[in-house]
Amino acid sequence: MNHYSRWGIPFVISAPSGAGKTSICKEVRSIIPNLAYSVSYTTRPIRKGEKESEDYFFVSPEVFEDMINEGRFLEWAQVHGHYYGTSKDIVLDKIKHGLDCLLDIDTCGAKNLKKIFPDGIFVFIVAPSFHELKSRLSKRQTEDYEQIRIRTEKAFAEIQAFEEYQYLIINRDFSQAVEELKSIIIAERCKTLRRRPLIREILRS
Ligand code: 5GP
Repeated sequence: MNHYSRWGIPFVISAPSGAGKTSICKEVRSIIPNLAYSVSYTTRPIRKGEKESEDYFFVSPEVFEDMINEGRFLEWAQVHGHYYGTSKDIVLDKIKHGLDCLLDIDTCGAKNLKKIFPDGIFVFIVAPSFHELKSRLSKRQTEDYEQIRIRTEKAFAEIQAFEEYQYLIINRDFSQAVEELKSIIIAERCKTLRRRPLIREILRS
């Protein structure tokens, strides 16, 4: 543990594709200090503008399957026909060193992580409507028609999981959504339970 004298908080963020989660998380990471990000492994092809080991570790299905067999994932799932997985070493190392960590995970992975991090903070982000969601997916031009169809169908199923999350952000307006995620992180950091060790230090001083 570091000077915070506590374990890091895992902030698990899920959202149907096109809800704006990646941009919101990137913006929040650039504003909030001492907030790490769990870079996942994936077998999906790299998109224009993405960077290896910043957005994902892009690996082949063979490498990914070897990693599953070696027990190197905290959780993994098949999403939209590709493997995605959270590295055990990367995340546990951050949490043990008191670093709060954002994890961008689908609803199935989040469910599995809840068993590992029962005290984690689970946040769900949605677009304000399906019309808006489809329009955002088409505009970003990173998926073909078939992928947009798969992702919209999956979004419908994923939204049903919203009640398993403690916080819900409706991304009508980007700045407002960023503000909300920022506020959740700050409020969670201020909880008495997490600051108890600091009070002991103050009393001893
Ligand atoms: P994308 O291909 O659009 O970057 O991500 C597709 C989906 O995979 C998103 O819902 C994202 O949250 C999810 N995802 C990304 N990394 C992981 C991971 O490590 N584990 C799981 N279960 N889902 C992930």
